[in-house]
Amino acid sequence: MPNTDSMIPACDPDRCAAAGCTPTVCVGAGVASNHELFARSQRAIPGGVNSSIRAFRAVGGEPYVVASASGATITDVEGTTYYDLVQSYGAIILGHAHPAITAAVGAAVVSGTSYGAPTPREMKLAEAIAERVPSCERVRLMNSGTEATSTAIRLARGVTGRDRIVTFAGNFHGATDALLVAGGSGVATLGLPGTAGVPDAAVAETMVAPYNQVPDLDDRVAAVIVEPIAANMGVVAPVPGFLEGLRAECDRVGALLIFDEVITGFRVGTGGAQAKYDVSPDITCFGKLIGGGLPIGGVGGRADVMEQLSPLGKVFHAGTLSGNPLATAAGLAALETLTPDVYIELMARARHLAAGLRDACAAAGFAASFPVVGTLVGIVCGDDAGTVHDFDDAKRTDEAAYAAFFQAMLAEGVAMAPGAYEAIFVGLAHTDEVIAAITEAAGRAAVVAAAG
Ligand SMILES: *Cc1c(COP(=O)(O)O)cnc(C)c1O
Repeated sequence: MPNTDSMIPACDPDRCAAAGCTPTVCVGAGVASNHELFARSQRAIPGGVNSSIRAFRAVGGEPYVVASASGATITDVEGTTYYDLVQSYGAIILGHAHPAITAAVGAAVVSGTSYGAPTPREMKLAEAIAERVPSCERVRLMNSGTEATSTAIRLARGVTGRDRIVTFAGNFHGATDALLVAGGSGVATLGLPGTAGVPDAAVAETMVAPYNQVPDLDDRVAAVIVEPIAANMGVVAPVPGFLEGLRAECDRVGALLIFDEVITGFRVGTGGAQAKYDVSPDITCFGKLIGGGLPIGGVGGRADVMEQLSPLGKVFHAGTLSGNPLATAAGLAALETLTPDVYIELMARARHLAAGLRDACAAAGFAASFPVVGTLVGIVCGDDAGTVHDFDDAKRTDEAAYAAFFQAMLAEGVAMAPGAYEAIFVGLAHTDEVIAAITEAAGRAAVVAAAG
């Protein structure tokens, strides 16, 4: 077996000092390049990543390996700093290492990191969510958005005594077996497993419908789960009547309506997408920014539904690290900073950034549109992209053109998500100056991308 450590250069104090190497980066491994570290990661971690899209397979090349981040920027182990439009895929909204978050976590950590018993802080975060999102009379905290959607599905099935789940093509609900389905196109169909490892039986009761069309339900349906703004196939707004129609159709057959607000919760406004569109779900899934950048998930909903969860009810849920003291400290700090005024500002910035990117691409002759829904910005590349209402529309995006733009932006110092269907995340750290710098970079990048 080769000595893998020999691939990493030994620590050289002069090189370290010149590169501004920090102890976290160096750890005795020398000033390694992104490539060297990622090669070593690939020997320890499958594909070198702990979440598959990070591997750059969709855009080519290798990821930058992050040393640190601050505000709107992220810095890799080679010392290159990028403007960051990923913001941990939406887990960050105040900007990286925001003082309110680091202070809250720092103050919390000295009191212990997990207890296995109730805490005042988890109570406060549940209360803070319920105050802001009235449909959430009770909130159960957990560790990821995936855990939230799988718990919500189990809860809906347990409450209704029915098995069938309806989901929408192009919506993403994390790595939950019952929701990892490949749908047909155009019509509501029973799903097939969307990945190896999911047995047919796990998705036998999952139906996939086209987004933005209200499917006909029957009394076999336990729940409809939907991203109220689709943010994992670009950024797609619900057409007028879609969410209202789902509410009415669920009520007609006695099914529960689940909003997956893992991205939209506290990002599009204090009350999430359900307040923006004035449609109340029975169950809401949270994640991402309610942990202020630490691992978290949450399920909220009507008291009579939520109290079917154990220990009160018959639907089991438990978690060793659930309601974690650090994640709840960070989450509370995030929610407290997000006053209603902040969203007005963020909407203005989203429009401003999208307009800047649109103008930059148009001037360079690079075909791309940048849809804005509230505080969320999407990108659709290609000449025949058009307006996107569902997954079939979204798939018309030119993935090769996105990859070219992505690489050119990275070369200009702007990090976007390495996938054509991800959102562009604008946060409090994206000031006018930052947006101006990003749009200038985009002007140069679009020229390169347009040249192919
Ligand atoms: C990210 C995401 C999830 C999964 O959350 P994880 O914390 O990554 O497990 C679920 N639903 C939506 C809409 C998401 O964007």
